[in-house]
Amino acid sequence: MHPQSSERRIQRIRHELRHREVTVANVQHLSADMVRITFSGETLADFVSLSFDDHVKFTLTTADGDTVRRDYTPVAFQAEACTLAIEFALHGHGVASSWARAAQPGQQAIISGPRGSMVIPQDYAWHLLVGDSSALPAIRRRLQELPIGAQVVAVVHGQPSTPPDSFACDDTLTMHWVSDADALLHTVAGLTLPDGEGFVWAAGEASSMRALRTLLLEAKQLSKHQMRVAAYWKQGSSDFHERLDD
Ligand SMILES: Cc1cc2nc3c(=O)[nH]c(=O)nc-3n(C[C@H](O)[C@H](O)[C@H](O)COP(=O)(O)OP(=O)(O)OC[C@H]3O[C@@H](n4cnc5c(N)ncnc54)[C@H](O)[C@@H]3O)c2cc1C
Repeated sequence: MHPQSSERRIQRIRHELRHREVTVANVQHLSADMVRITFSGETLADFVSLSFDDHVKFTLTTADGDTVRRDYTPVAFQAEACTLAIEFALHGHGVASSWARAAQPGQQAIISGPRGSMVIPQDYAWHLLVGDSSALPAIRRRLQELPIGAQVVAVVHGQPSTPPDSFACDDTLTMHWVSDADALLHTVAGLTLPDGEGFVWAAGEASSMRALRTLLLEAKQLSKHQMRVAAYWKQGSSDFHERLDD
């Protein structure tokens, strides 16, 4: 059992909810199943996102005039340029995914939030980041923010970017790319976690994340204070979000 430090605390910070009209400024394909869309707009001037775990509500209008809202991670924000990047997994079934696949510069959208941030300390003895393509943007942002020397293991069901990303913590990062949800669980099950107090952040499909959380609590003997596991989508459901903390 890894003891929980009384010094490391997750900070919860609320933000005033703002709805921002934005325009697609750039579309960049990172891999076969991921596109990064950079939005711009003066409305972003006071945008704040304090954690890789944050999400915004992305609102788009379909060709039929329907309004659709979905959750996405703010990946990169440039205050001076008033730009915000979001990375969309191209999973092939959803309205938001289809919108992103066809997105063109000049298109309009609305970005709301984030309403709040959970700021997870960076000074844990180790970090384990786990997820599928829906979680890869948050994992990528966390890897960009962690300092040189941070001990990190990442297990991702998805495809690496082309060209590959580079991070400050590259020398102490072990990255496992896996091809399906079973391999994700199997890889985590086979890890020997380093000594000291660590933290696990994980997100992905609901049943896969439930199984992962059980594995972390039972087989890995971690405490629930050492993890944040979330369902970012659920097979067969639209617009699903659940935090698995009970
Ligand atoms: C806090 C939070 C942050 C998120 N951040 C991101 C992010 O940065 N990038 C990102 O790509 N996604 C992210 N997601 C997940 C995204 O919100 C969902 O995948 C969403 O359902 C996509 O909307 P859609 O309109 O494309 O599909 P929906 O209309 O919601 O779903 C249609 C069908 O597609 C299936 N489906 C939905 N998502 C996926 C998927 N990822 N893979 C395979 N099948 C799927 C559903 O089960 C359903 O059958 C996040 C979710 C949460 C809760």
